Amino acid sequence: MDNGRVFGRLFPAMDIVILLGAPGSGKGTVAARLVAADSSLMHVSSGDLLRGAVSRGTEAGREAKAFMDAGKLVPDALIARMIADVVASAPAGATMLLDGFPRNLAQADILDETAAAAGAKIRSAVMLDVPDEVIFDRIAGRLTCPQCKAGYHAKNLPPKKEGVCDKCGAALVVRKDDNPETVKDRLAVYHSQTEPLAARYEAAGLLRKVPGTGPIDGIAAAFRAAM
Ligand code: AMP
Repeated sequence: MDNGRVFGRLFPAMDIVILLGAPGSGKGTVAARLVAADSSLMHVSSGDLLRGAVSRGTEAGREAKAFMDAGKLVPDALIARMIADVVASAPAGATMLLDGFPRNLAQADILDETAAAAGAKIRSAVMLDVPDEVIFDRIAGRLTCPQCKAGYHAKNLPPKKEGVCDKCGAALVVRKDDNPETVKDRLAVYHSQTEPLAARYEAAGLLRKVPGTGPIDGIAAAFRAAM
């Protein structure tokens, strides 16, 4: 009997909900809403893990930086190690909203192995469906809090005080990779490498699709129902 099964009866295994969707489709915003309303949920963003490593100047961060600035995927092994650490240390009974990983089929294989090793179960893969034109518009006004990671939009979701995070008071920034040229590259990477994951999770009976346009409360509610 493995540990997952031994502990499974006393402490329910961790569930993983994969957030699929293009950059700027609202994965982080939806996850933040859901986590604020339910303390059993935890949001893990691969992009935030990588940006944290870059700003701390770790070896992984130094390796990742050039890929990220160019809108390309960092090497699978680099991000896979970070995700494995988070999954292994997550509390039993939690539901992890995994945002930004997997990004390609090889990473989906890695996640299957990581989850199995930690006794965690992939519950669903929920895709936020947003047309590319809307993505460009959203990313053009996107503002991010470098401290607490809250997301804003100059027009659609402005902070109460211009340039200042409502939640922690830090100065908001425009992400370096949120410029139109890099966004084009990130969307191309998404369509060629990440979108094919939908078929994989559909075949496994795990795929749910949620329209990612309209008022954020409605999107978050539809996401919650789907996951
Ligand atoms: P995101 O915040 O999810 O848009 O990610 C920002 C950048 O981090 C991406 O453009 C990639 O360079 C890198 N990144 C994030 N997640 C992954 C991943 N799973 N695999 C490879 N690169 C990633």
